[in-house]
Amino acid sequence: NNLVIAVDGPAGAGKSTIAKIIAKRLNINYIDTGAMYRAITYKCLKNNIDINNEEEVVRIAQNTDIDFRDNNLYLDKEIVNEEIRTIEVSNNVSNVAKIKDVRYLMVDVQREIGERNSVILDGRDIGSYVFPNADYKFYLIATPEERGIRRFKELTEKGYDTSLEEIIKDIIKRDEIDSNREFAPLVKAEDAIEIDTTGKSIDEVVDYVLSKINL
Ligand code: C5P
Repeated sequence: NNLVIAVDGPAGAGKSTIAKIIAKRLNINYIDTGAMYRAITYKCLKNNIDINNEEEVVRIAQNTDIDFRDNNLYLDKEIVNEEIRTIEVSNNVSNVAKIKDVRYLMVDVQREIGERNSVILDGRDIGSYVFPNADYKFYLIATPEERGIRRFKELTEKGYDTSLEEIIKDIIKRDEIDSNREFAPLVKAEDAIEIDTTGKSIDEVVDYVLSKINL
């Protein structure tokens, strides 16, 4: 039977870092579901689509091909790993992700992947909505300051000229939209194991997660 592991939590809590390592250790697939919402957002911005025009955004999502292969994200057959990580995409993605019909499309793809393969998925609604029967559910959190510092480091390494205050503000805003949307919001599934990663090393969190998984 396929193994499904859900890793949810707010932006910058360490989900993707941890999920990638666990995927390697267990030799299963890793799906970054946030990258899917980012890809739609990137395509809308590139085509000058008004993010607040839900009908237009849904139309774009319906006509978009998203695929994960060899750790690459393909948007309409083109690799967009870097393009989807800009501050502009980050600051618009929550308004795309709150559209119910966009979520239906993405969730279909996620479920299909989980039905065919053993996977670890990171996102916001994996344990609460996409795979309510996942074998294991983790919910990662950290203080806004710690999450901001992590994002700030990533962005300045890429050459962005920004401030920590700005990044913390953006993250809090994004969490607020993600937590308050009507459909499948960011929420800890009742049966998820919560891990506060504040002040913890990557190894510590990975070891703890692995200690909870019995194969
Ligand atoms: O994980 P990441 O920060 O890249 O996610 C970007 C955005 O995509 C989130 O802020 C959220 O708006 C959306 N998202 C979502 N549901 C998921 C994964 C991401 O709504 N399962």
